[in-house]
Order: sequence, then C-alpha cells, then structure tokens
Amino acid sequence: MIVYECCGIESVTKKVYCSSCGKEITNEYDVPEVGTVYSFTVIQVPPTQFAHLAPYTVALVQLNNTKAKLTARIVDQVNIGDEVKLEKIVDGAYVFKKSEVLHNS
Ligand SMILES: [Zn+2]
Repeated sequence: MIVYECCGIESVTKKVYCSSCGKEITNEYDVPEVGTVYSFTVIQVPPTQFAHLAPYTVALVQLNNTKAKLTARIVDQVNIGDEVKLEKIVDGAYVFKKSEVLHNS
C-alpha cells in the first residue's frame, strides 16, 4: 500500500499538492497492508448500495510503519487494538479482515 507524505502528514490518498506547504507531494513509499483498529462503528442502516451487507463494521485503521490512517470495512468482529490486514479493495473501498497472526508485543 502506498503512503504519500509531505510536511510530516502521511496519507493513503494521493493529493497532488500538500495541504500544509502547497508544494507538489513527491514522497511516497510502500507500507505493509496491516494495521490496528483505532476506532470502529457498526453500521446498522447503510446507504442503499451497501444494504445487503448490513450490519457491518467500518473502522479507522492505523496502518503499521506510518502515521496514515484509513477507513475500511471489516469483515470480522473487531475491537480497538485488534490487528487487521487488507483483504481486498472493492470499488475503491478498502476491505480488511482480522489478522490471524498472534503477537505478544
Ligand atoms: Zn508539505
């Protein structure tokens, strides 16, 4: 997964110009498609196009090795602090699932 950085602001969304200094963003680097659940919401009443998925979980995922966070649908039940990894990208939307890898750290 590519993260774009300028002025210490890291984002998975590609913007041409930095919102802080106004310069063209040229720093980009690859980060693991793994992160931790920062916060989450269970969507009971979704927009029409996602009605068949309800109820589903949308989480803010703090990606590893970066300050960037992204919003993703989580296919499993999760709690804050759970490790999740990218499963697929559907129509530009990130779908994460709980990582089976267990850590002691
Ligand atoms: Zn900048």
